[in-house]
Amino acid sequence: MNDSRVIIAGGGIGGLVTALTLHQIGVPCVVFEAVREMRPLGVGINLQPNAVRELYDLGITANDLDRIGLPSKEWALVGLNGNDIYSEPRGLLAGYHWPQYSVHRGQLHVMLHQKVVERIGPNAVRLGSRVTSYRKNSNGSVTAFAEHADGLTSEANGALLIGADGIHSAVRAQMHPAQPPIHWGGAIMWRGTTWAKPIRTGASFVGLGTHRHRMVFYPISHADPKTGLSMINWIAEVTMDNTEGWKQSGWFRQVATSDFAHHFDNWVWDWLDVPALIRQADSAFENPMIDRDPVPTWQDGPVALLGDAAHAMYPTGSNGASQAIVDARVLGAAMIDHGVTPAALAAYDQKLCGPISQVILRNRGAGPFGLLNIVDDRCGGTFDNIDAVIPPKERADFMAGYKAAAGFAIETLNKAPRTIPSGARVRAAQAV
Ligand SMILES: Cc1cc2nc3c(=O)[nH]c(=O)nc-3n(C[C@H](O)[C@H](O)[C@H](O)COP(=O)(O)OP(=O)(O)OC[C@H]3O[C@@H](n4cnc5c(N)ncnc54)[C@H](O)[C@@H]3O)c2cc1C
Repeated sequence: MNDSRVIIAGGGIGGLVTALTLHQIGVPCVVFEAVREMRPLGVGINLQPNAVRELYDLGITANDLDRIGLPSKEWALVGLNGNDIYSEPRGLLAGYHWPQYSVHRGQLHVMLHQKVVERIGPNAVRLGSRVTSYRKNSNGSVTAFAEHADGLTSEANGALLIGADGIHSAVRAQMHPAQPPIHWGGAIMWRGTTWAKPIRTGASFVGLGTHRHRMVFYPISHADPKTGLSMINWIAEVTMDNTEGWKQSGWFRQVATSDFAHHFDNWVWDWLDVPALIRQADSAFENPMIDRDPVPTWQDGPVALLGDAAHAMYPTGSNGASQAIVDARVLGAAMIDHGVTPAALAAYDQKLCGPISQVILRNRGAGPFGLLNIVDDRCGGTFDNIDAVIPPKERADFMAGYKAAAGFAIETLNKAPRTIPSGARVRAAQAV
């Protein structure tokens, strides 16, 4: 039954954008999502111009995005005495044809869920349904096995299964049973949000400190016209010895700000008060900076991985969610060329797995924050004239290398045709 549809394991950002894409190109699908209820979880994330372009092509408008975030204007790295290391315009100001958005992850997630329900129907996302494993059938189809919140189990047949089930993916665990455990490099992040006055352009992403002791913050809402305050997303980060591995239980837990604010006690300048920013948040989430070693392929016959299940990466390049969105669109384009077939999954895998695996490794090396490491190594993070520490050309070359690898190069993106041509559909004969 239902062997022509696509089963999506995981209704996170990647799974929901996959569902919207499949609907757009005329492919039936169903999403199995482990949680019982969609709640606006998480704090800030960035949607790079390549991902915003894809959202626009899906009919998600600037108005939609302005309700859950704001267009970014600047990306800046700052030394420990507040002096600029590097800054560049972002989004439209940088010359992209599409903006970059800084948004609330949970609000984006809830908005995508609403769009899926509106466009595909109330049964498109089966909540409380955790995919546990899959079986490849002799007729080429796939069966997904699921456990439900009420304790029952079920199986569902489809033409393809997309594992968009996040960093702890069950689909990936079956596809790559010998994969090493989650990799933790020693950095702990505490994330939170605080209503405060935005600095610099009013829409600036700021990274401050060194690679062992860092603060990153950016607004994720337009400033309230009455108060001038924006919701500021911040990530406080400390790197420690990881030789004994992660000792806390779980990877994502709510903590009191007093648990960690002391690491930043002296970070007070006339333009920024980090301890106040942290303490004025109600609470924070602690999560170690983790990723997974790349795997040689994201495909196993009629099954493919997407989003964090395929390429969980350090958030240093602000590209985890953006890449999940791009994955979904590249997958849809492959289905237009090859139908709803394993050949489409192979084309998708061929296009993305190798290059994006390189981005995982590059982000491990601190991604664009690598400039902070260089400045720290050369002068301890405090300087008067940045040109004497790292010349402008070296700074520009470093950033250009990162952006080219992550698919952010401006001209390449601006010139690229749409990933999915307007009005393109998978032809009926191809859909089985
Ligand atoms: C609760 C939560 C909060 C987050 N907060 C932040 C944040 O503040 N900042 C940030 O940068 N990133 C955050 N992330 C990660 C970020 O959303 C992802 O890195 C990125 O968006 C890629 O999306 P994804 O869809 O691949 O993975 P995810 O967004 O992780 O989505 C995976 C989805 O699959 C579901 N799932 C897991 N296992 C199964 C299974 N076996 N069967 C069915 N469903 C399953 C999960 O419940 C989840 O909804 C968060 C992720 C989650 C789940």
